[in-house]
Amino acid sequence: MTSSRNTRGSLSLREATGFVQEALTTGRSERFAAERLAANLMDSSLRALVTEAAFELKQKGKGKIVTVSRNVFLPVTNLCRNRCSYCTFAQLPDSPASKTLAFAEIETLAREAHAAGCIEALFCLGDKPEVAYRGYRDTLAASGYASTAEYLIEACERVFRLGLLPHSNAGILTREEMAKLRIWNASLGLMLETTSARLCERGMPHYYAPDKDPAVRIRMHEEAGELGIPFTSGILLGIGETTQDRVDSLFVLRDLQDRFGNLQEIIVQPFHAKSETPMANVQGLSEAEFTGWVALARLILGAEFNLQAPPNLNADTQTLIDLLHAGINDWGGVSPVTQDFINPEAPWPSLERLREVTRETGQELRERLPVYPEWIRERPDSFAPEMFARLRELSDAQGFARAQFRSSSEAAA
Ligand code: SF4
Repeated sequence: MTSSRNTRGSLSLREATGFVQEALTTGRSERFAAERLAANLMDSSLRALVTEAAFELKQKGKGKIVTVSRNVFLPVTNLCRNRCSYCTFAQLPDSPASKTLAFAEIETLAREAHAAGCIEALFCLGDKPEVAYRGYRDTLAASGYASTAEYLIEACERVFRLGLLPHSNAGILTREEMAKLRIWNASLGLMLETTSARLCERGMPHYYAPDKDPAVRIRMHEEAGELGIPFTSGILLGIGETTQDRVDSLFVLRDLQDRFGNLQEIIVQPFHAKSETPMANVQGLSEAEFTGWVALARLILGAEFNLQAPPNLNADTQTLIDLLHAGINDWGGVSPVTQDFINPEAPWPSLERLREVTRETGQELRERLPVYPEWIRERPDSFAPEMFARLRELSDAQGFARAQFRSSSEAAA
């Protein structure tokens, strides 16, 4: 899916200005322009131009609101049938660090989170470990579950009954599994990560990860689209993909949204090297390059997309401000009770800090539910009746979380 026109070579500021003006006029960048801008994104003047346009586009589509979801991270199991070269979350069954949470443990965490004002229960887990590990499969079967997905469905219902709204990110799921999960989930997710099949070749980060085959992931996106499930996706930057791969990935996501209209948010996530992994010495993107890609993602996806960058992976104040200026309108899930188990080296900033930083850019931080306000306002039929009743109960008239974070000084006033 590459352009037949030559997108390489330097780009004058005059040409670049024409491209961003066109994106501002039409609401999103056309492909040739995006490829030309991407190929020259390391030019700081051009990047400043793209960033300025991205911020303007964000304001057009989303006004001055930036959102965040107060959540609890529930790592149901850290067993996974894949072995991505950058991952420290997945463990082998004989590792002392391997862990599958019992329902009682999940419920204890859910109660603690509810008491701390969390609304979202983020279920994040390894991909189909029962396919790879017989002992785990036998344990599941002894408890009456044929698959991790079945176990997850039960966990979601239990947590929903405790007052939280589940959002599950469980790797590759079948259409039937998604149809069952949606009953107890406000929304579901799967990072596309990249469209690069080359990263599945020998020596590349996804060689031992059959579920990272881009065609498999795109198929699941399509099935979620056919089911009309509010769905979170995103791209991972810095794992060996090319500039063209990044552009392709963003256009695949945009095309999916044009076809199905169910992508509720897109996450742009930077790769973070972890010391115990085969990719320990791989350099991630610089802050400038990353924010440039966030801005270009806004131009490609357009004004209306919900665009997120995780605040714990880019934690210094200036970077957070730069990300806001690059056109994000969401900080994703931030937890006052659990760490980011995927990136345990990166602590969450407090909601208070995020609000301050957001205010510094002339914008306002609002808490949302796992599903975005427009879905609650405009698409009630996307949810099971009991789920929609809960969404209404927990949201205000605009669809934001009814209970909003208050800083310690406000609480004392
Ligand atoms: S990144 Fe996800 S799919 Fe890959 S090994 Fe880790 S948990 Fe499994």
